[in-house]
Amino acid sequence: MTIELSHLPAVDVHCHPFLDPGEMSVERFVDAFSFSGGGVPFMTAGGLPHDQALIDEVQGVRRNALYHRYAIRQLARFFGCAPVLAEVVAARNAASRDYANYTKALYGACGLATLVTDFGYPLPAVDVDAFKAEIAAQVIPIYRIEPLIVELLAAPIGWAEFKRRYDETIVDVIQNQGFYGLKSVIAYRTGLDVSPLSRTPDQGLQALDAIRRGIGGNAMKKLRDHLLCRALELCMELDVPMQIHTGMGDYEVNLVACRPALLMDLLRFPTFRACKVLLVHTGYPYHAEAGYMANMLPRVYCDVSEGIPFAAHAAERIFLETLEMAPLNKVCFGTDGYTMPEINFVGTMLGKQALGRALQRLVDEDLLDKAGALEAGAWILAENAQRLYGFV
Ligand SMILES: [Zn+2]
Repeated sequence: MTIELSHLPAVDVHCHPFLDPGEMSVERFVDAFSFSGGGVPFMTAGGLPHDQALIDEVQGVRRNALYHRYAIRQLARFFGCAPVLAEVVAARNAASRDYANYTKALYGACGLATLVTDFGYPLPAVDVDAFKAEIAAQVIPIYRIEPLIVELLAAPIGWAEFKRRYDETIVDVIQNQGFYGLKSVIAYRTGLDVSPLSRTPDQGLQALDAIRRGIGGNAMKKLRDHLLCRALELCMELDVPMQIHTGMGDYEVNLVACRPALLMDLLRFPTFRACKVLLVHTGYPYHAEAGYMANMLPRVYCDVSEGIPFAAHAAERIFLETLEMAPLNKVCFGTDGYTMPEINFVGTMLGKQALGRALQRLVDEDLLDKAGALEAGAWILAENAQRLYGFV
């Protein structure tokens, strides 16, 4: 038994842009389609020789992930071919020659209507209009602050100019360039243990000065912490949400310093608690922590992306454990799809199935009635994200 959600529209609240990847070899498809894929296997990208044995080893890791096995079977069903990797890749290569119609059919089949898209990955950034032109879904662009920080650090400027350009760029992208909110991946850099006192203006001045004079120490963390606090303030002034990466990520993530609970001091601080914050990936594998924060802090939300689809059969558990504490109007569906449209498709298929089973279990346990479960399904799949970002 399951609550039937397949007919409902879905909003992918966290994913990334991609352009038509064209015809793909089986190996390239596996790389791009896998968790942490992004194209080139990182094992072979960092100075290790590109010998065949190493490439085969990485391919073996990817092809034996449960996510991969599930995804190939879902795609085979869509194409009407045998659930065999080579046949699925051949079918997607043939279908994607008409790329616009291919993405339309894929997203139509799973009911994916909207992509809330972080344009800060990959770099160099994909052009927003080029992505919109290629993809058969509504695109809601999100602006990531870290590439801006890198750009300003590379410019020969002092703190006054740094600060002015940082603020002006963020205001401009929100007010004039069609971005709906900000995103930070500080968990990938210096971690989530950000003191709310980092907002003091002198911390930015002192940290940039130390970096410029090469006496950094922990100056980079102080600078990033200060700039995250400033971004939260700008979000409040501009009335847009801030996404903060928490929990799992690719091989660069600081998996120790990415726990959502590390953000508690910052997000409950009076200066910042009016900011709408989306805890991306609901902090998986620390998702119960993120759910607790969404309960405790009125403007904190969770999204289940990346754990769904890449943690495969954890999908139902992610929903259930996040919803132990997170209110039903604070959890958003997402996939963290990147590189190619098939990841968003597989994530949406898996997400709907898992959410349907999770909600059925809540009905079986008499925590929700059937009507309440259907309503919660529509909220989590789309309406919570629509309310948070203010689009329909
Ligand atoms: Zn992402």
